[in-house]
Amino acid sequence: AHEAALAARNKEDLRSPICCILGHVDTGKTKLLDKIRQTNVQEGEAGGITQQIGATYFPVDAIKTKTADGKQEYKIPGLLVIDTPGHESFTNLRSRGSSLCNIAILVVDIMHGLEPQTLESLRLLRDRKTPFIVALNKIDRMYGWQPTPDNDFQSSLAKQSRAVQREFEDRTQKTILAFAEQGLNAVLYYDNKNFARNVSLVPTSAITGEGVPDMIMLLVNLTQERMSDRLMYLSELECTVLEVKVIEGLGTTIDISAYVHHKEVKAALGVKIVAPDLEKAIAGSRLLVVGPDDDEDELMDEVMSDLTTLLNSIDKSGRGVCVQASTLGSLEALLDFLKASKIPVSGINIGPVHKKDIMRAATMLEKAKELACILCFDVTVDKDAERLAEEMGIRLFKADIIYHLFDAFTAYNAEIMEAKRKDAAPQAVWPCRLKTIAAFAKRDPIILGVDILDGTLRVGTPLCVIKVDPETQKKEIIELGKITSLEINHKTQDVVKKSQAGGGVAVKIEHAVYQSAKMFGRHFDEKDEIYSRITRQSIDVLKTSFKADVSNEEWLLIKALKPRLNIQ
Ligand code: GDP
Repeated sequence: AHEAALAARNKEDLRSPICCILGHVDTGKTKLLDKIRQTNVQEGEAGGITQQIGATYFPVDAIKTKTADGKQEYKIPGLLVIDTPGHESFTNLRSRGSSLCNIAILVVDIMHGLEPQTLESLRLLRDRKTPFIVALNKIDRMYGWQPTPDNDFQSSLAKQSRAVQREFEDRTQKTILAFAEQGLNAVLYYDNKNFARNVSLVPTSAITGEGVPDMIMLLVNLTQERMSDRLMYLSELECTVLEVKVIEGLGTTIDISAYVHHKEVKAALGVKIVAPDLEKAIAGSRLLVVGPDDDEDELMDEVMSDLTTLLNSIDKSGRGVCVQASTLGSLEALLDFLKASKIPVSGINIGPVHKKDIMRAATMLEKAKELACILCFDVTVDKDAERLAEEMGIRLFKADIIYHLFDAFTAYNAEIMEAKRKDAAPQAVWPCRLKTIAAFAKRDPIILGVDILDGTLRVGTPLCVIKVDPETQKKEIIELGKITSLEINHKTQDVVKKSQAGGGVAVKIEHAVYQSAKMFGRHFDEKDEIYSRITRQSIDVLKTSFKADVSNEEWLLIKALKPRLNIQ
């Protein structure tokens, strides 16, 4: 029969799609996988469901017994479902930057709605442009649910009390809204008229099996209707390393998922490979077969090119955080995320964090202290490295959820920026333009009553006046000293805005020890406008540490003052 099937290969003859399960922890991914396997095994033992390495293969016959309604036409030979749920396997099912996963099931707990890892999964699916359906799982947990094991969902729902039906509608609506907030149109799968535009929701219970046949049916439908071109047989083997693990007695092994076209085997497959020198294999990388006409070095370069592509995401400025992940796939996902969040990356690595990784991150201590850190995604940090990081002041962020990693880093970044602002505050000079209306003390300290013509007055701001020699036209900047106190109506203030200064402000100006004391009436008088003594450096400090605090008017004033104060 196999031979005959092979002979009949044509356009309708598709290979098995590969399916992944993703979602937040405890939504029922593992249970759902168990249920798919078990219902099918029970019902159609002869169907030839095979537990493969890292995956379960469902031939179409097994699917038919579960979902037969007489109308369904099957073009795919079966479905290969990856057994380890979660991001890890999804991100590692990659080839040349695109995903080998043809369709995904995103599991959402109907009682909890969208959770942090659900959102992260959505991001991954979107980044890789992978079509997916949503299993709205744990429907049996709605109060008063009457189960009919392995039933199709709609007929199960019809049997429920009005109260249960109402709760279901309510929860579904909430989920649809939450998806809408993520920019997705979600609809119950039986209402979905446009698979290209809308995401299908399939209510399921991994415990009672209700909705599971609907889910499998939907997977088959979607894959064969919507992506037949991607499921055509390839003339060459294409596969990816899913997992690298050490097995007692076998040494290091790799589990791979493969698309194959072979005389006997006609399916997407999970295969375990036992071979020497596999310790350095990286999950998520491609596996190529060296044929008699192939140049081994060329193929080696090609596999390495996956890593070099990732190296391109390293910031050209040499400034950035270091990123370390367990697999090529998760590294790629994390880099996508950092790119979208505009966080620069200066170094990447795969595997546990060692001393040398800390040393690399340490080069950032001088360039940009806030970036002297390593984002460790699902990797261990060895003891020596941990100690060294502590000694050198390299922050390590460890998490196995990208969001958590990102949140921790963002919070830390905000902290560092605040500390930087505190440090920089004395160097920051806010612009102002003043007119003297009275002189209360002429020298050491100078105390003036002023009007604010422009800008804001702050304690700490250095002031100056500009004198032009009438003969030589030479400009001289006379530094008066810093504002040490401000008063309006005998009340001291730290900051006075133009709008608050209607009746004038009393300004006390004291010179630094290295400055000579200036005198009102001799070095300057009420005809001179007084300015903030801004410099190139003080402008840079405002730009890097206080950008958000400087108003448009203040930038304009700085711009106007620059030429007067000889700033380029
Ligand atoms: P995973 O972390 O997403 O793989 O979640 P699991 O499959 O380990 O399930 C988490 C918990 O939820 C387990 O205690 C399951 O028995 C339970 N669970 C999973 N699916 C369902 C379901 O459909 N209904 C109910 N009532 N419990 C479920």
